[in-house]
Amino acid sequence: MEFMPDFEVKHPKTIEEAVVLAKQDGAVFLAGGTDLLANLRRGVGEPKVVVDLTNIEELMSIRETKDGLHIGAGVTLNQLLSNEYINNDFNVISDAARTIGGTTHQYNATVGGNLCLDTRCQYYNQSHWWRNANDFCLKYKGDICHVAPKGKVCRAAFSGDLAPAMLLHRAEAELVSIEGSRTIDLAEMYQEDGANSLTLLPGELLVAIKITKLSGYKTAYKKMRVRGGVDFPLAGVAMAALGTADKIEDLRIAYTGTNSQPIRLTGLEELNGKILDENTLKMLRKILFKQIMPMRSTFTPSTYRRKVAVNLTYRLAKELLE
Ligand SMILES: Cc1cc2nc3c(=O)[nH]c(=O)nc-3n(C[C@H](O)[C@H](O)[C@H](O)COP(=O)(O)OP(=O)(O)OC[C@H]3O[C@@H](n4cnc5c(N)ncnc54)[C@H](O)[C@@H]3O)c2cc1C
Ligand code: SF4
Repeated sequence: MEFMPDFEVKHPKTIEEAVVLAKQDGAVFLAGGTDLLANLRRGVGEPKVVVDLTNIEELMSIRETKDGLHIGAGVTLNQLLSNEYINNDFNVISDAARTIGGTTHQYNATVGGNLCLDTRCQYYNQSHWWRNANDFCLKYKGDICHVAPKGKVCRAAFSGDLAPAMLLHRAEAELVSIEGSRTIDLAEMYQEDGANSLTLLPGELLVAIKITKLSGYKTAYKKMRVRGGVDFPLAGVAMAALGTADKIEDLRIAYTGTNSQPIRLTGLEELNGKILDENTLKMLRKILFKQIMPMRSTFTPSTYRRKVAVNLTYRLAKELLE
């Protein structure tokens, strides 16, 4: 039987109130609710307190900074898509936002909710009844991983589309908890553990994201999904390219859907100065293979998702450099 657990809902008006409420045992934040509520409805998650963020004005603004933008965690995807500055100077972010869910999701879904999205797996995003009948797994109550039975770590995939695009722009995450505030590289907000993929402290709130402009780079985001729309990525690739096919000057590439965290590729400097030819693409594939690790967490084979990641990368490199 599908069920909605009993929980209390709190409606703080300030960040300070929210983080005090979130420190309680079993508390979770609710932003647009487009993922959280769908999960709760299926019996995925059993919070005792739901801390609704939608009345906190401080989370809702987008403002220009000296070298980029400061985006509140409560800004909706629709607001991102309606912002001309973002569409012009951070087009990879609007490219990614446009592919998230459907237009109705985008009216409610927020930047914070997308960046803090729980990981996904075909053995976890199922009803409570289904999971009970098929044995729970490491991510919830169980002691085995059905994807990698010998493994000790959950391999559920991070599938948020915004994170790779933000990572190209050297995003920093502003975090607040009752312990105080801190700012970290967005990449440090994630770790390779599908059952615990965010490094946030208990009750810590993502308040805003700071991103820096990329001068002279061409950027784009591509994703492949099972259905043509309203679907999570099998793999999503964000790329920023400086130079031409005759001389690559700098490449930045980041992935979603392939690991339990978004991955910003390292080691791409060895491609600088090279022509974009078959050899360079082979070098790029080698770098990519060492760092991405799709698993059988969705019903398409992991080898297929790896191919998807490679092909999207090749297409983007050709489009942006040629
Ligand atoms: C049919 C369908 C299709 C979808 N397709 C996609 C897709 O293609 N791509 C994609 O990326 N997503 C997709 N989603 C998931 C979801 O709609 C989006 O990721 C959305 O951006 C989540 O934002 P939200 O504000 O609704 O988050 P919520 O559902 O409110 O929250 C998501 C998680 O983030 C936490 N959280 C929210 N805000 C904060 C904060 N400020 N600080 C700390 N933690 C926070 C919540 O506690 C929760 O764990 C889809 C969902 C559905 C139902
Ligand atoms: S990867 Fe394994 S442990 Fe994680 S949700 Fe899937 S089956 Fe469960």
